[in-house]
Amino acid sequence: MDEIRIRGLRVFAHHGVFPEENRMGQCFVVNAALRLSTQRAGESDELEHSVHYGEVCQCLTETLQGQTWKLLEAAAEHAARAVLLRFPLIRSLELELCKPAAPIPLPFEDVSVCITRRWNRVYLGVGSNLGDREGLIRTALDALARREDVRKLRCSTLIETAPYGGVEQPPFLNGAAELETLLEPEALLEVLHALEADAERVRTVRWGPRTLDLDILLFEDRVLSDPELTVPHLDMLNRTFVLRPLAELAPGAVHPLRRRTVAELLSELEEREAERTC
Ligand code: ATP
Ligand code: MG
Ligand code: MG
Repeated sequence: MDEIRIRGLRVFAHHGVFPEENRMGQCFVVNAALRLSTQRAGESDELEHSVHYGEVCQCLTETLQGQTWKLLEAAAEHAARAVLLRFPLIRSLELELCKPAAPIPLPFEDVSVCITRRWNRVYLGVGSNLGDREGLIRTALDALARREDVRKLRCSTLIETAPYGGVEQPPFLNGAAELETLLEPEALLEVLHALEADAERVRTVRWGPRTLDLDILLFEDRVLSDPELTVPHLDMLNRTFVLRPLAELAPGAVHPLRRRTVAELLSELEEREAERTC
């Protein structure tokens, strides 16, 4: 991805663990790489198709001067978030916050924290088979869409599906959702669990009836193999009720382990199922 780089932006601010740092203040230096496509601006020569780096510098300065944090980590986190929220064309941002006058009683040149934050594209599987199924799904997705750190949420058609996993229970309504989020996978899962709890989901039997199920199917091209969070979702390749709505939203999305598109995975699964019923 293309980059616009800012080097050596000096900001006088009041961050530090020691009270005198908060009182006196000191000079911080910011280096940033803004990742976005500059091609459209390159062709049109219009600023509206790119990001105004002067405004980004202003945003960084105002954020760093607007509050006092003890840690460079916290100051960098808030500054990166402010830029990503304010300038939607920036997909990701590498930000280094340097503290050349840090209170270290030894000879040193500089100390800094460097972070990368981005808008992550994520696909969710959504399902419900108790209560007002569609209402519960829409309420949860609306709540997600209202979050500041979630954008561009789209939901597939919701499809009626027979229960999966052998438990006798009412039919499901299933779908998929696409979104972009500043959250990391674990934090997103916490948000999804909270939304399931808001829908009064009770876990009794595995694959049993539920008011709401929100699963992370794909998270960028990340692969996570923790049982608490396995991404891509472990069983998505075997579920038509997952792949069909997902293919409606993102037929070209690639499963990072199988290296196949969702459209290819769906047609392979449909073939396997057709063979099984023959
Ligand atoms: P399945 O995951 O097979 O669709 P389920 O959705 O009914 O089953 P839940 O009861 O919702 O299962 O979740 C059980 C646990 O699975 C959760 O506590 C969560 O930590 C874990 N989990 C692992 N990977 C994921 C994922 N990709 N998305 C959501 N939960 C996950
Ligand atoms: Mg599930
Ligand atoms: Mg689940």
